[in-house]
Amino acid sequence: MYVVEKRLYGDIILYSAKCPKCGYAGYIGLNNTCDNCMCELPEVADQVKVIRESETWKRLQPNKADQERLLQFQDNKCAWCGCEFYSEQINEKTGRVRVPDIHFDHIVPYSYGGNLENNWAASCSICNSIKHNKYFSTYSDLYEYIRERRIFKGWPVNNF
Ligand SMILES: [Zn+2]
Ligand SMILES: [Zn+2]
Repeated sequence: MYVVEKRLYGDIILYSAKCPKCGYAGYIGLNNTCDNCMCELPEVADQVKVIRESETWKRLQPNKADQERLLQFQDNKCAWCGCEFYSEQINEKTGRVRVPDIHFDHIVPYSYGGNLENNWAASCSICNSIKHNKYFSTYSDLYEYIRERRIFKGWPVNNF
């Protein structure tokens, strides 16, 4: 019986399983092999369990120094739409002007490498509210979704 756990972390879905050959439990990489014995994992799971990571995990925030480092790394721009933080965004449909706040989102990438830059993303409040608590299996799915919703709502997408 090959059970795959589908874990929902922040924006990203990670799959983990126990290797049927060596018993090692870990994340399934893109090449579908066991990290321990390097054998090929089964193509199809007998059962898929969905695991939503705890709310406490999601509520964590980077400390002030890390926030500053991250903003510098992102060149003071929203990770999703590329707008400059604290710059005006004008809604084409309503004419409404907004100066969005910065939100820090916790993300876990496929690589689960764990440094600051790939575990956190700073985004503008417009993108943050569009994304809310949806899950995406890849970054390009996430970008595409945010782009479409911004167009639909009338927010500029010229920095994508
Ligand atoms: Zn193995
Ligand atoms: Zn944005």
